[in-house]
Amino acid sequence: LKKTFKKLSQYEWEIPKTYRSDMRVAVHLFASELLLEAALDDLSLEQAVNVTTLPGLVGPVVVMPDVHQGYGFPIGGVAATAFPHGVISPGGIGYDINCGVRLMSSSIEYTEAQPHLAQLAAALNAACPSGMGKAGPFKLKPSELDAVCRLGAEWAVKQGMATTEDLRRTEETGCVDGADPRWVSEHAKTRGSDQLGTLGSGNHFMEVDVVEQIFDPDAAQAMGLMEGCLVLQFHCGSRGLGHQVCSDYVQEFQSAVRRYGIQLPDRELVCAPMDSPEGQHYLAAMRSAANFAFCNRQVLAHLAQRAFEQVLAGKIRRFHLHQVYDVAHNMGKIETHMIEGKPLKVCVHRKGATRAFGPGQAGLPEEYQAIGQPVLVPGSMGTASWVLVGTETSMAISYGSTCHGAGRVMSRSKAKRDVRGDRLRDELEQQGIHIQAGSLAGLAEEAPQAYKDVDDVVETVSGAGIARKVARLRPVVVVKG
Ligand code: 5GP
Ligand code: MN
Ligand code: MN
Repeated sequence: LKKTFKKLSQYEWEIPKTYRSDMRVAVHLFASELLLEAALDDLSLEQAVNVTTLPGLVGPVVVMPDVHQGYGFPIGGVAATAFPHGVISPGGIGYDINCGVRLMSSSIEYTEAQPHLAQLAAALNAACPSGMGKAGPFKLKPSELDAVCRLGAEWAVKQGMATTEDLRRTEETGCVDGADPRWVSEHAKTRGSDQLGTLGSGNHFMEVDVVEQIFDPDAAQAMGLMEGCLVLQFHCGSRGLGHQVCSDYVQEFQSAVRRYGIQLPDRELVCAPMDSPEGQHYLAAMRSAANFAFCNRQVLAHLAQRAFEQVLAGKIRRFHLHQVYDVAHNMGKIETHMIEGKPLKVCVHRKGATRAFGPGQAGLPEEYQAIGQPVLVPGSMGTASWVLVGTETSMAISYGSTCHGAGRVMSRSKAKRDVRGDRLRDELEQQGIHIQAGSLAGLAEEAPQAYKDVDDVVETVSGAGIARKVARLRPVVVVKG
C-alpha cells in the first residue's frame, strides 16, 4: 500500500483510485511521515480504501492523522455521499452516535484552586456517574425519553439544567432536526432510560485542565480562555441508547444491501440509500440518539457545575463555568459543500473526526463568526489536549472536518497487559494530576502510552491548514469510569 502513496505536501498523501479497481474515489490522508507509519501499522488505511467503493461518494475519502482501525470504517475518517440518492452507513458514524466533547471556561486561577483539587476530583466523581451501564440521576418514563430524543439539550432548559447561552454555544444549538424516536427500538430506549447524565466508561472522561499556552489571543478571548486558569472538558456520547441504535440498523441494513444490489468489500460497511425507507428510518433514529447525547452532555455540565460550587463556593470568588462549545465527532449530517466548484448537498459521515467549520459559516454563534468554530481535541489523561478552530481550508479540502483526538496506537488488551493501573495512577498523581478511576484495569487501558502524541497530530492538522491552534491544555483532575 505504501508504495502507491502520492505525496501531495508535507502533511498530505493520496492513495489514487488506481490502487484498486473497485475504488470510486481516492483516499486523501493527512499525516506527517511519522504518523503515516503509525497509520500503516493496522488495517485503517485498507479500511479507508474499502470505504471508497460506497455508492454516491462525491469526492475523496478523507483520513485524519489520529486514524486507527474501527468497525468497517476507520476511526478518524470522513466520507461525503450525495444527498439524497447516495448511501448512509451506520459504521461510518459509529456505535457511539454523537459522541463529542464539551469545553467550559472559568476565571479560576490554578494556583488559587490547587489546594482544593483533590476535593474537586472527588466531588466531580460523585456528581457524574461513570462506569459501564451505570445508572444516572433520572429514570425517564417513555414519553419523557421521547421528549429527550426530540428536543436534545432543549429538554434540559425546561428542567432548569441549561441556559439559552449553553445552547447557543452548542453545535446545532443542541438539537438536530429530523429526529423521530418512533424509529428507535424499545431495546434501545430501555438501555437509555436510566443513562441520561452519565459518562460511561473507557475513553470517556471528565477532566479539569489548566490553560497552559495560548496561540491565538483573539480566538482565546472570544472563547473566554485565559492562561493559567482552569477549564472543564468532558467526552461522552449517547450511551447504551446510541449503541443499540447502531447495532439495530447494522443488522437491518444487511438485507437492505441485498435489496438495493450494493456490492461491498466488507460486510461491516452495510449501508442503504438515504432516500430509501431503511435510510430514512436510520436517519430518524440516529438523530434521536444524537439529541440524547446533546442532552446527556448538558445534564453532565449541570452536575459538574454543582460540584464546582459545592467545593469552591466561599473559597474562590468567581468559580462559575461558562460554555465554550460542544461539538461532536461521530455523526452523519446533511451539509452543503463546494464540490468541484459547485455547492452540493451531501451527507458528511464523520467517524472520529470533529466538525471544523471555518469563519462565516451559518449556525456559528456571532462571537465565533470571525474566528471559526471551536474544535476540541482531547489528548490523554496524562498529556495535553488542544483547542483549535476550523478554517477556510478545512471547508475546502476536508468537508469542514479535522482530527478528534490523539488516536490509539495500542490495543486495549495490550495496554492492559503492559500497564499496571495502580502504578499508572501513582505516576500521574506525582505529576500533579488527581485521578478518580472506577477501575484500575480500565485506567490501564487508557494509559497515555496507548495513544499517539496529540501534539504531533495537532501539528499535522495545523500544518495542513485544516485547523488553527488556539490553546494547549494540561490535565489536573481526571475522572474515568
Ligand atoms: P474516541 O474514543 O472518541 O475515538 O477518541 C477520543 C480521544 O480522546 C482519544 O483519541 C484520546 O486521544 C482522547 N482521550 C482518551 N482518554 C482521555 C482522557 O482521559 N483525557 C483526555 N484529555 N483525552 C483522552
Ligand atoms: Mn464515545
Ligand atoms: Mn468519542
